Amino acid sequence: MSPDFTNKFIERLSRVRSQLTAESHLIIVSKTRSIDEIMAYYELGQRDFGENKVQELLEKSQLLQARCPEIRWHMIGHLQSNKIKQLFLVPNLWAIHSVDSLELLKKLIQSESILKGPVKIFLQLKTSHEEEKYGFQERAQLDLAIGEFKKGQSLELYGLMTMGEIRTENFEEQARRCFQDLNKLKKDLSKDFNLNLMSSMGMSQDYELALKENSNWIRLGTMMFE
Ligand SMILES: *Cc1c(COP(=O)(O)O)cnc(C)c1O
Repeated sequence: MSPDFTNKFIERLSRVRSQLTAESHLIIVSKTRSIDEIMAYYELGQRDFGENKVQELLEKSQLLQARCPEIRWHMIGHLQSNKIKQLFLVPNLWAIHSVDSLELLKKLIQSESILKGPVKIFLQLKTSHEEEKYGFQERAQLDLAIGEFKKGQSLELYGLMTMGEIRTENFEEQARRCFQDLNKLKKDLSKDFNLNLMSSMGMSQDYELALKENSNWIRLGTMMFE
């Protein structure tokens, strides 16, 4: 373990861990970060890591397969359907947070026979008004998406994901609104479909707000490394 960043990492990890509740978990977003940095956090007991590009995720997961056998990979970035097969080759792929359309979900399910084990699916909601963000916006589409999951499939419906609005004058209020919109749907869908959906929300800027809104999975990159 490199002493350069180990002390810094110990401090950051213990700070975030002290803020987590029994129902909330940390994903360290390791995009653009080195194998050594990921291993340092792994050696401190961290198991959940997120990446947003399939190519980078596949390369890192293969390099780390032997050294970090208990690692759990989370795909969190927008996924193009021509990358699905590559994504499904990722060893220890644990969850996909960025299933942002019915069309993409159907393509994932069509390819699922390549998978060696179960993979959890979060449906991504577009709760912000920002143009470049992806995600489900209509309840009817979500109902159809939920209808695609069948018992015995490798892909399991697990939760809902969103990103808070960031470029706004009133960023705290907007982020809170995004998280509350997700919570409302989480509650309604869980009730209507008899599910126990989890939530994935909160990044470096807004994770404390997300934890106040009972986020089950926070995804932190910048603040864990810089
Ligand atoms: C990069 C990224 C994060 C982490 O963002 P930070 O601001 O670096 O904490 C979380 N979620 C998604 C979807 C991301 O792409």
